[in-house]
Amino acid sequence: VAAGEFELIDRIRARCASRADVLLGIGDDAALLATPGPSEALVVCVDTLNVGVHFLPDCAPAALGHKALAVNLSDLAAMGARPRWATLSLSLPEPDADFVDGLIDGLLALADEHDVALVGGDTTRGPLSVCVQAIGLVEPARALRRDAAKAGDALYLSGCTGDAAAGLALLQQRLSCGDEALRAALIERLERPQPRIAIGRELCGVARAAIDVSDGLLADLGHVLKASGGLGAVIDLDALPVSEALCALLPDESQRWPLQLGGGDDYELLVCGDAAAIQASLAFGRGELVRIGAIRAEAGIGFERSGKAFDYAPGGLGFDHFASG
Ligand code: ADP
Ligand code: MG
Repeated sequence: VAAGEFELIDRIRARCASRADVLLGIGDDAALLATPGPSEALVVCVDTLNVGVHFLPDCAPAALGHKALAVNLSDLAAMGARPRWATLSLSLPEPDADFVDGLIDGLLALADEHDVALVGGDTTRGPLSVCVQAIGLVEPARALRRDAAKAGDALYLSGCTGDAAAGLALLQQRLSCGDEALRAALIERLERPQPRIAIGRELCGVARAAIDVSDGLLADLGHVLKASGGLGAVIDLDALPVSEALCALLPDESQRWPLQLGGGDDYELLVCGDAAAIQASLAFGRGELVRIGAIRAEAGIGFERSGKAFDYAPGGLGFDHFASG
């Protein structure tokens, strides 16, 4: 169904519930948001999903809406923030009301789950692109920054990595799978990542550093190590969490490692800090954090198995939009 720009905006506005901290939401030149008290800082992030770059052209609109918000909430989770508000900048090739309704279904379902209010945005014509900005709150001294890891810190992961990359490989027919349920489960992990907000909050002021795994475990760990002054790390390959689905798809562990270590789009949290402090957290108690290694002073990332150094050379891992070749 074709619609004008303002009709599309009205359809979005009609679905946004009002909330006390939104003094003025969608409809004016800009939103007015009640400022938090002095003990909390605003945490602001933005991420864009472009067709053909971040999602395939046939991606369902609701999945796209979910993911566009999820990747931003994941950034807030990795700071230890409480999400509050979001804006949505949409570029559409055609003013298709059904498409926008579907996209908003997916986005608002996730927003409601995390008590996030959609407070504004922009709607333009152009190649399909969905840009969400998310704003949250955190006590600044307790934020989980990338630059705070220390040699001797233990390293934890909030869940399995590699599933999203397997889902993408299935969609792109680089891998195949006869089991429909298995295939759907892996594609679901690609299209509907769950931001680890509760874990981030519970680790706020407990862990030292965190990052969300969007580019790939090794690439994102590399960002923490570099930001923290050129540290290194060791990863225990036997401790890496793996889903039943990925094991079923790829029974050979050496075929799973490149996906687990290099595959992007998982949006799990990679967390560094004092082992005793982290293991006293609620998230660890619920079994939602797995210890996968340690930070060390010696630069570079090494591997071990059964407590012994293990020679492993993953190549060409991690995603860089502007990398050559
Ligand atoms: P302006 O010309 O002042 O930028 P717009 O016509 O772009 O105003 O937007 C009108 C109102 O609708 C604004 O409050 C804006 O935040 C909101 N809005 C526009 N597009 C979207 C969207 N895709 N999602 C949410 N709010 C939107
Ligand atoms: Mg505008």
